[in-house]
Amino acid sequence: MSLLTDAADLRDDLVALRRDLHRHPELGLSLPRTQERLLAALDGLPLEVSTGDQLTSITAVLRGGRPGPAVLLRADLDALPVGEESGVPYTSTVPGVSHACGHDLHAAGLVGAARLLAARRADLAGDVVFMFQPGEEGHNGAGLMIDEGVLDAAGERVTAAFALHVFSGAAPQGLVATRPGTVLSASDTVRVTVTGAGGHGSAPHLAADPVPAICAMVGALQTLVTRTVDVFDPAVITVGSLHAGSAANVIPDTAVFEATVRSFSAATRERVRIGLERTVRGIAAAHGVDVEVDHRSLYPPTVNDPDQTAYAVGTATELFGPGRVFQPPNPLPGSEDFSLVLENVPGAFVGLGACPTDRDFATAPLNHSAQAVFDDAVLPDAAALLASLALGRLT
Ligand SMILES: [Zn+2]
Ligand SMILES: [Zn+2]
Repeated sequence: MSLLTDAADLRDDLVALRRDLHRHPELGLSLPRTQERLLAALDGLPLEVSTGDQLTSITAVLRGGRPGPAVLLRADLDALPVGEESGVPYTSTVPGVSHACGHDLHAAGLVGAARLLAARRADLAGDVVFMFQPGEEGHNGAGLMIDEGVLDAAGERVTAAFALHVFSGAAPQGLVATRPGTVLSASDTVRVTVTGAGGHGSAPHLAADPVPAICAMVGALQTLVTRTVDVFDPAVITVGSLHAGSAANVIPDTAVFEATVRSFSAATRERVRIGLERTVRGIAAAHGVDVEVDHRSLYPPTVNDPDQTAYAVGTATELFGPGRVFQPPNPLPGSEDFSLVLENVPGAFVGLGACPTDRDFATAPLNHSAQAVFDDAVLPDAAALLASLALGRLT
């Protein structure tokens, strides 16, 4: 119980830190103010601190009092290009930018874990690596930190890695959710440019119209999913952007769409990549237009190690009781670059419900919404759970 009690004592500090980060969100790989604020929050703790070269990351190593393995705890730090409409009193001061994914809570929670673990340093048989990571929202921050050596920051490869993610809806406040195996989808982006030959809208026979070709492609991609993808190993293709032309009576030269592709296994991810290319090339040929396909692989599926997940479930159950721990039957269709850590080290990605108690979690706006609200009442629990995950592996 003392871990929860000690975490509760940190509440005011962690809430103040979180709200300060929330007021000053930063995007991408360069978060200088966030980095400065977190370095100040860690100052005075017995940590070996280093900062990133290609990004404003912080890697902090806590040396235990006795020898043993190293465990990694990760927080992502970046905000989103979303103008905040949450109505909270500590709302973003940066127009068009906000912590709509709750990464400000992750940062404060990991600072709390560092304080809790530093106070127990003598009891630790091994080291803890704290990974404060910019650039999760599509910028490959975890990949860059891995390149810069975060997994070996303690002098040897960490033997387990854990990350916590808060959710503004879908789950009641305080619920800890994780599952063994795939927990989040892979995410890829594809940009398809169809090039024909423009002309007068009254004389399509003298042009090569890219518009019907691109319309056929968008429709066919949904058929691609239902006809080629195993229903028990699914995929999603969403065309979120489509542009062509500028006037009703002009056939344009080009038409462009962009789609996000989500999948839950390497096999389906590859099947969809190949099938999408085949489909749009075939349709382009049928319409007598050219097509260019620019496929960008973002993040692989996030796959939890079964043993580390069972351990995380056991740890959360011991801390909070069985009524607050849930193992969902299915993965979520979001994506994470913590997947890259879990490709190298066994570990678990764990969700924590942070919906305000005066909202209905079933209908509350979700992460990435301008209206999303994350209740920082969960910060002591976030800190305690992260600390406990390391503590249990090192005692
Ligand atoms: Zn996000
Ligand atoms: Zn996130």
